[in-house]
Amino acid sequence: MQPFIAGIHHVTAIASDPKRNVAYYEQQLGLRLVKTTVNFDDPGAYHLYYGDDAGVPGTILTFFPWPGATPGRAGTGMTMATAFQVAPGAVDFWMGRFADRALDFEAPVERFGQRVLPFRDPDGMPLELVEHAPASISPVTPGRVSAHSGIPVEMAIHGFHGVSLCVPSADATGRLLTEVFGYQSAGQQGDRYRFVSPEAGIGASVDLVCTSGELVRGRSGAGTVHHVAFRARTNEEQLTWREHLLQAGYSPTPVLDRNYFQSIYFREPGGVLFEIATDPPGFTADEDLDSLGSALKLPAWLEPRRESIAARLPGLR
Ligand code: ZN
Repeated sequence: MQPFIAGIHHVTAIASDPKRNVAYYEQQLGLRLVKTTVNFDDPGAYHLYYGDDAGVPGTILTFFPWPGATPGRAGTGMTMATAFQVAPGAVDFWMGRFADRALDFEAPVERFGQRVLPFRDPDGMPLELVEHAPASISPVTPGRVSAHSGIPVEMAIHGFHGVSLCVPSADATGRLLTEVFGYQSAGQQGDRYRFVSPEAGIGASVDLVCTSGELVRGRSGAGTVHHVAFRARTNEEQLTWREHLLQAGYSPTPVLDRNYFQSIYFREPGGVLFEIATDPPGFTADEDLDSLGSALKLPAWLEPRRESIAARLPGLR
């Protein structure tokens, strides 16, 4: 069998107000803040990671919250929606919850036989809940905060379902997914083309939604996804993917140390920034499972500047 990528590792997006971001993802969605750190390329700003209880790959949504960031614009070369998976029947629970709390959501739609609830976070970022077949729900542990948020465990978010990318044509991105990533074509609905990882676990889907040219190019900003990261199970596997990408004509970056994983980045043909990130070492690399996210963690090279960095960051709670 052709080697294949196991699915999404994390999705990184841009937000404006860090405090509002934490309140929404913890208290409204019941995710766990599993790492509080800074943007390694801009240490004056936070990098917040949410996930299931341990922040396992496939459950991790991360934000660069820049206070006062201007809103981005949807369009080609952008992620149109980031979808989480929930158990069958859970969409009704979430609709009721969003309505009770006056949160932004739309009427559910049917897509590839699955019920999908579109909604938006406080920055207007498009999100979805997708009801998944019970057999394919992976045994992720919902964030422990979900219990305190009034979300029954059987209704909790179980990691990602996938992402929808807005690209000019499905051909080139589709070839990357099938010929390099080892994904399989899983059908078409209207202008939406679905590709899935043979692993079929969490974060296995990538939908390409093709525009007929009338849409403008997207612009990065608050409420938009910065990049989508896919999983490499080991550091060795990441080097193999890097080699495959070079052979296919892509220009991946060298391996960068992100403390909790190793990363390479490249631009896919539709314009979306992709990353391949390693499963190890994960978020318990510098704090234990019980205290994940509770303290500001810095990489070793920023520790000497801890005092000045911490003094500039706004409070989160
Ligand atoms: Zn990333």
